[in-house]
Amino acid sequence: MVKTINQLRPKFTTNADGSDAVLFIHELVGEEAGPTVGISASIHGNENTGSQAILELFHILKDMPLKGRILLLPVANPSAFAVNERYATIDKVDLNRQFPGNPKGTYSQQLAHALTEQYLNVIDIHIDLHSGTDRPTVDYVYIWNDEELSRAFGSKVLYRPVENKQGTVFGGTTKSVTIDTRNIPVAVIELGGGIVDQTPISSARSTAFSTCCGPRGSSRVKSRPTPSRSSSPSWPVFDLHRAVSSKRWLPRTGKPLPAINCSAASSAPTISKCSKRSRPRSRTAS
Ligand SMILES: [Zn+2]
Repeated sequence: MVKTINQLRPKFTTNADGSDAVLFIHELVGEEAGPTVGISASIHGNENTGSQAILELFHILKDMPLKGRILLLPVANPSAFAVNERYATIDKVDLNRQFPGNPKGTYSQQLAHALTEQYLNVIDIHIDLHSGTDRPTVDYVYIWNDEELSRAFGSKVLYRPVENKQGTVFGGTTKSVTIDTRNIPVAVIELGGGIVDQTPISSARSTAFSTCCGPRGSSRVKSRPTPSRSSSPSWPVFDLHRAVSSKRWLPRTGKPLPAINCSAASSAPTISKCSKRSRPRSRTAS
């Protein structure tokens, strides 16, 4: 079972009124030691679908058997989230272009530094949730350094960024820490958008859930002894250490879904050109 739940509130700067600007991280600690999965959302403050998914996910995970640790960061960019804007209004720069950050830099650069030190540098897998804000957009999953992990989310559209192709790979994203520096498995999820259809929320919840801890994802560990005190024995213990080391934690959803290599499809790849389902009004970049 989840042994302890902690609320971590690391400070990243001081507001002009003297108060502390802090992050809010939910830490779920299992009964046995193991690797740490990090799930974050709203690094762009107007992409709140992932934040809602994480909060729903928290209520599921808190009563689950767990081996290892999960860090849930529902709002990575608090001041931007507060006003439903992509950027913090204090310095109006894209937080997801400031990594690894600077403790003596602007507000967003200090925030990026704290996210690097307190979150990105202490996790072993990163699931980074983005979305299309209140505009209807296509949901898709980036393929970065772990294609099997990206495919585990079951998206019908997968996007393979290519270095040196304009508009596909951006500098200063969380990737510069998690992949370029640390090379931990990363999945970046775009959850779609729109203010009517709430499907992306439950979709994000179920996919992140099944990838981390769900019955599909952990079906292969059912035969192992279950030393938990769970009141719902149908949930097997999920061994994060075993999962990371063996990669045998991914859900099997039948036929592998085809990836769409945008660089091969177009000299100026965009998501809209990759989608066969619908054409988004605009593209958002992680
Ligand atoms: Zn985003």
